[in-house]
Amino acid sequence: MSGAGSGLPSTRWSLRGYDDEGNEAWLIRSISAKLYRCPGCHGDIEIASDHVVVQYVMRLGGTEHHHWHRRCAEELLAPDLRDLKRVPAGESSRSKLEARGRRPAGRRRRG
Ligand SMILES: [Zn+2]
Repeated sequence: MSGAGSGLPSTRWSLRGYDDEGNEAWLIRSISAKLYRCPGCHGDIEIASDHVVVQYVMRLGGTEHHHWHRRCAEELLAPDLRDLKRVPAGESSRSKLEARGRRPAGRRRRG
């Protein structure tokens, strides 16, 4: 699998990759319940629009998330992530990711 070949998240599939600091970045398909600001283009994400939640699980513990336009996530964010792979959407539920964030990934060390 190379480049953008992994596509974008759907109701069945999420994507998981790593940023350049070794934090996990999970790309999850979502429908917006309120107005969000996309960090890619700084434009609005309209209510009820199909978009991408990027949930980070930090290498040292903790989580944070951002809401992106689908196209911005594909063009601006995904190319910066390493080892981006499709994973079943059920693995990317908020409760599971928050649980991951509660235990630091001790085996990953800064190079
Ligand atoms: Zn955008």
